[in-house]
Amino acid sequence: MNDAFRKNKGRHAPVGNGQRTLYTRAKRPAGRFGMGMDRQRAEDRAPMARRTGAHSPWRRPVPRVHALAATGLALTLGLALGLWPEAHSLPEEAPQLAAPVSDPLALTSEAAPDLIPEPATATPAALMPPDPAPETPAWRSLTVRSGESLARIFQREGISARALAALMASGALAKRLADLRPGDQLELQEEDSILLGFRFRPSRLETLTFSRASGEAPRFEAEQELRSPTVSERTAQVVIEDALFLAAQKAGLEDRLALALAEIFQWDIDFVLDIRKGDRFELLYEERALDGEVIGTGAILAARFVNRGEVFEAVRYEDPAGNGSYYTPEGRSLRKAFLRAPVQFTRISSNFNLRRKHPLWNTARPHRGIDYAAPTGTPVVAAGDGKVVKATRNAPSGNYVVLQHGERYQTKYLHLSRFAKSLKAGQRVKQGQVIGYVGSTGWATGPHLHYEFLVGGAHQNPRTVALPKADPIAPEAKADFTRLALARLAALPSAQRLALNGPNPERHETP
Ligand SMILES: [Zn+2]
Repeated sequence: MNDAFRKNKGRHAPVGNGQRTLYTRAKRPAGRFGMGMDRQRAEDRAPMARRTGAHSPWRRPVPRVHALAATGLALTLGLALGLWPEAHSLPEEAPQLAAPVSDPLALTSEAAPDLIPEPATATPAALMPPDPAPETPAWRSLTVRSGESLARIFQREGISARALAALMASGALAKRLADLRPGDQLELQEEDSILLGFRFRPSRLETLTFSRASGEAPRFEAEQELRSPTVSERTAQVVIEDALFLAAQKAGLEDRLALALAEIFQWDIDFVLDIRKGDRFELLYEERALDGEVIGTGAILAARFVNRGEVFEAVRYEDPAGNGSYYTPEGRSLRKAFLRAPVQFTRISSNFNLRRKHPLWNTARPHRGIDYAAPTGTPVVAAGDGKVVKATRNAPSGNYVVLQHGERYQTKYLHLSRFAKSLKAGQRVKQGQVIGYVGSTGWATGPHLHYEFLVGGAHQNPRTVALPKADPIAPEAKADFTRLALARLAALPSAQRLALNGPNPERHETP
């Protein structure tokens, strides 16, 4: 995540007016668009994307396409007007002259002075004349065509394979060149068929420049230039007619915003099955602009979701390391943790072992869970908040319960002597709620709970699997959080309206 996004606390507080941050080689932004999603959250999105298959348009690189279209237009315009910013003989004021024409031009001209290749007779930088030599070769742009790799493009442009190899060997940033897509704009700087410079803009916020270093053999130095957008806060209020994503689209919200919303409440709401006509949500979120033009959305700062009359609220809070998480207004995490063991056990009678021999069959049968030995009748509780998928019986498992927790997690409880009273499929359970009692029904050698933990459909060892964190707001941060939560929730549209009409009658603690 870009530092500039973290510091935004107040409403409509502009942060970073497009300062340039220069990195060399190794550093990369968090995401392709620097949208501020960490890797884990990006992975979390995948199952949601699959489940809602029909509406998966957030895979489309929409903002990028727009950015590219703008870039392409700007480049064309620039060329047509003779304003191509690689007029290296221009004095320092060149960027200001070019800026009003379009943003990408401004960006290009800003970058240009850094990109003048060193003359072959390695003049020390300090002794170089203040104005670049007028005979510096011009940059020319080209567009990536469908199915083209960089090798193919270089071949088409008559650039040597040696130069390509040197470019690709220039460090971590060069790996990004494997990401080229049709329509991407590239820039080349050549002299006598020798590649001197190469430029690629993955987004409007990022420029990768590869400059040939002095010396006989081709060698390139890579530089990453990042621009910081201006961040302001926006609100939205949307009533759902059919599906969350359709409603968000109709309201003109980016898909990624709807996705982020679904992710925030995934532990409480099943966005495939639970959504009803008339459900609604409100958002306070960051909007990012570059040179006065909106380029995308940032994090959701506060959200309220009314699902079948039940109100869920979330407020984003960032720890000192800058990691944002969502909490209820009372400071409890919206991400629900699991209990390590769902039963008071006396001992582990059989461990998780994918290669063990089954005690009854003496054949290699993986043990995909943990057996907790406990007296018959010992209460078995839900390891986490969730929904009962199954509470039934079969020959090998006896009485068993399957719980679904959010999108990715499932827990299974086998060999129960009986179920908790009135437990049935479809019912919500809370962490620690009794769902049944230890027994030895099914293929069991004695009273125990066979417990399984599945992540994305794969069995994991419940004793060792990394469980999602769900720590509440730290006591020392509580006052700060409460202040922030009140301010952010008050900024939501209905809160503003209700402030005129008295307190919100619907609001209660998120379960
Ligand atoms: Zn077992």
